[in-house]
Amino acid sequence: MNKGMLILFSGPSGSGKDTVLAELKKRSSNFVQSVSMTTRQMRDGEVDGKDYIFTDKSNFEKLISEGYFLEYVEYNGKYYGTPKPPIVEMMNSGVNVLLKIEVQGADKVRKAFDDVVSVFVAPPSLQVLADRLKGRGTESEEAFNERLNIARVELQRASEYDYVVINDDISRCVDDVLSIINSQSLRTENQKSFLENINRKEQ
Ligand code: 5GP
Repeated sequence: MNKGMLILFSGPSGSGKDTVLAELKKRSSNFVQSVSMTTRQMRDGEVDGKDYIFTDKSNFEKLISEGYFLEYVEYNGKYYGTPKPPIVEMMNSGVNVLLKIEVQGADKVRKAFDDVVSVFVAPPSLQVLADRLKGRGTESEEAFNERLNIARVELQRASEYDYVVINDDISRCVDDVLSIINSQSLRTENQKSFLENINRKEQ
């Protein structure tokens, strides 16, 4: 069995990456999304344990000290982290794992793992991104400005990614991400077990 690969999926707040991801999950069973832990407040419609595992600061800090996270960051004054044990387990059983992660976290994971493919979802323009964030209306003016500033910084780091997909049309954007995942899983290094097996049988 081939080991699962890690798919890093980033994009600034307002790039529409959650919508792309939701559509992606409907159209592909080729990956499982890791559920992150966060200390931010739950938004309307979010489900604890599905969208995030919501926890408080002291528990999060306790888990940091126990080495529970593959990576974690403080973003907009809140902690976000990727639990390590479930990811290692899934990858060892051949499952591809997708991490929805911001740029600093992606950088840490890229340095720690070999078999990673990274995808950055970009909005068609900064104006579209600002309009989407305003339309969401889930945050105070201050938090909105903070997210917009973070988005600008994140967009400058898009070139660190293997692929950049532009989200001006959801369906096309999902097609693009699917072709990236499919191509990556067909790379020779991801077909090692298959090749070893078939060559052994042929001998
Ligand atoms: P939001 O509050 O909009 O759900 O997420 C804010 C940012 O945190 C997004 O860019 C999201 O991708 C990122 N994020 C979510 N979970 C994690 C995580 O476990 N680690 C890191 N580094 N970033 C995360």
